[in-house]
Amino acid sequence: MYPWLMPYWLRFQQVFASKRLPHAFLLVGPAGIGKSALAVQWASLFLCEQPQQNTPCGKCHACQLSGKQTHPDWHVYGADDAKSIGVDIIRQLSAQLMNSPQLGRGKVAVILQAERMTEAAENALLKTLEEPPGNSLLILQAESAMKLLPTIVSRCQVWTLQAEEQQALTWLQQQLPGREITPALLRLNQGAPLRTLEYLNEGGEQQRLAVINALDAYRQQPWTISSLTKCWVSAMPVTFEWLSRLLLDALKLQQGVVMQQLPFADHPALLSFLAQRPAERLLESLQQLLLLKQSLLDMPSAVPSILFADWLNQLLTKE
Ligand SMILES: [Zn+2]
Repeated sequence: MYPWLMPYWLRFQQVFASKRLPHAFLLVGPAGIGKSALAVQWASLFLCEQPQQNTPCGKCHACQLSGKQTHPDWHVYGADDAKSIGVDIIRQLSAQLMNSPQLGRGKVAVILQAERMTEAAENALLKTLEEPPGNSLLILQAESAMKLLPTIVSRCQVWTLQAEEQQALTWLQQQLPGREITPALLRLNQGAPLRTLEYLNEGGEQQRLAVINALDAYRQQPWTISSLTKCWVSAMPVTFEWLSRLLLDALKLQQGVVMQQLPFADHPALLSFLAQRPAERLLESLQQLLLLKQSLLDMPSAVPSILFADWLNQLLTKE
């Protein structure tokens, strides 16, 4: 169990021991916080035939199947990257929960990224939540509860997961010995340790630095515009994400947030420079960036380097 998830695991064990386990949970938190890891642990305990001190025994038939992810009473829905989760999938889920468990102990259903449910799917799930089948545990996972029907949220016990910063930093340092791990890296990744690890392992930080450093160089040497746009074009689509988050940080700086608390604190001169633009200009550029992203996706014939140069011109113009 990841160290920052321990408080949630201990709390679940207490609820489990009290024999008053709710039928449905909603785990909320950013991608990479460990929602799935926690759900796996919960499901294993729920299905274990002989839990030892509220911990899955690891030896029984159920635990062995759980360990191999082949337990017949434990189903995960939405495991593909499909844009939406349709009503047919939720009907399968409801049918699974209505049936008797094959191994006797109970049934577990997990919905990944539940915010992808269509309206029809949500309504179908609502029926299951209103009359929960016995001996079942339903775990919804989502990045935000706001994107789900309030009636669904109100029928789940909602747990919002966060990683304690120092704990997360220590863990990351253990995974990547010799690498400098700063709080800013964690903040750049929504405070999610697993996402931060992936970001560092897969070159995300180099990409971000390339996008931002190119802008910083251009600020000081305006003749570097062509190498700037070349860099931004080659880093698409993450260019859009980092530029918008940079502008958001500049806005926060304007509003009095301390530089050290901003994810882009590693570029103080650039941030201060951008924060000198009027707030309306920054907001407008943010909006333009979204439009730019959309038009580049929709129109393969568009020349991104020219569009980026225009965008930058608007952002930095002195008027
Ligand atoms: Zn067991």
